[in-house]
Amino acid sequence: MSEVPPSARSASIRLRPDRHRSLLRHHPWVFSGAIDRVDGDPQPGANVLVTAHDGTELGWAAYSPESQIRARMWTFEPGQQVGPQLVTDRVTAAATRRDHLLAAGDTDSARLVFSEADGVPGLVADRYGDTVVCQLTTAGAEAWREVLADALAALPGVRCVHERSDAEVRSREGLAPRVGTLRGDAPSPDLVAHERGLRFFVDAEGGHKTGFYLDQRDARAAIAGAAAGQRVLNICSYTGAFSIISASAGAASVTSIDSSGPALEGARRNAELNDVDLGEVIEGDAFTVLRGLRDRARQFDLVLLDPPKLANNDRQLDKASRAYKDLNLLATKLLAPGGTLMTWSCSGAMGMDLFQKVVAGAALDARRALHVVGRFHQPSDHPVPLAFPEAEYLKGLRLLAAD
Ligand code: SAH
Repeated sequence: MSEVPPSARSASIRLRPDRHRSLLRHHPWVFSGAIDRVDGDPQPGANVLVTAHDGTELGWAAYSPESQIRARMWTFEPGQQVGPQLVTDRVTAAATRRDHLLAAGDTDSARLVFSEADGVPGLVADRYGDTVVCQLTTAGAEAWREVLADALAALPGVRCVHERSDAEVRSREGLAPRVGTLRGDAPSPDLVAHERGLRFFVDAEGGHKTGFYLDQRDARAAIAGAAAGQRVLNICSYTGAFSIISASAGAASVTSIDSSGPALEGARRNAELNDVDLGEVIEGDAFTVLRGLRDRARQFDLVLLDPPKLANNDRQLDKASRAYKDLNLLATKLLAPGGTLMTWSCSGAMGMDLFQKVVAGAALDARRALHVVGRFHQPSDHPVPLAFPEAEYLKGLRLLAAD
């Protein structure tokens, strides 16, 4: 490991007394409130040496002057050089950790790099076959844009690296949206993710996230094993992945609800692609549609409820909890005797404990006894470092109606 050249030591952050403890536990964030002094006028994304109040060197971070998270650690080794080699090695190592998943043959699509969880703060990179769709969400990632693009393009079999840096979080870093192809040709409009014998269109240009919900892979496997012979209700269906899996697994009927017309159009395209019958499609607000189904005494054996992120932070938790409760209440009321409810929350601010309490409240109000028979987490290509629990966001419950 080469020594950091003295010139690179020009920018540094000194923490307030006692504010270095989280860094000793290898938590990668330095909040603005923990900083005593910034020396050397670092530019956005520049390397800064982070020291405890007594001057002890703690490691190197990327500086984000506009963000509450003022710096994100690259390394906890003060002697390590943060340069193109380190950044490239991190990307390559992260991708290599997914090799087993892609080699297993069930899918050609996986998240290759999950930001802090893979030691590359601010970079998310998802692979769909030969195409990588990435998001750069921090000043630090932005500063290494070309190196990151080269590292992703150099991965075996990658022909295209496309950037979808249009996530809302960029504004918190003072960064404008950026969308465009970084390496190779633009992604095919017919780009698909292959998974367990099915195909799903990936809308790399305009879809949610990087075009597909890779993080619901484990859910899709569970649904494939549970849908045969069932009347399935897919609430907040997006482009119908859960619906198509249900139909292909031999569901008795499938009903999809989403408020987005283009999402439902995507569901129709996906059904056609897989040569399955999409079944009943209802465009509308889930709260209203579910009440309508309840009033008509409709019943379903398998209810899937995967709403969008309803809480962006702790301050929104109360309001979000009420919305999650209402949705789960309505969903539970539509469950046939002995039916199964699979319900998710992708709000990082809401932990599994709180989510389970909210769903318990919903079941109580619906006067139904539900048993937890399984739990869902984000899959292995969205890992959660023990030192960085904030990486955890997706959780779900598999519930069996006891009556
Ligand atoms: N399970 C899906 C992802 C769901 S994303 C998959 O695996 O692909 C959440 C979806 O909820 C989005 O498609 C969004 O359009 C939809 N949505 C958001 N608010 C809604 C509402 N009030 N009623 C119905 N659908 C809604």
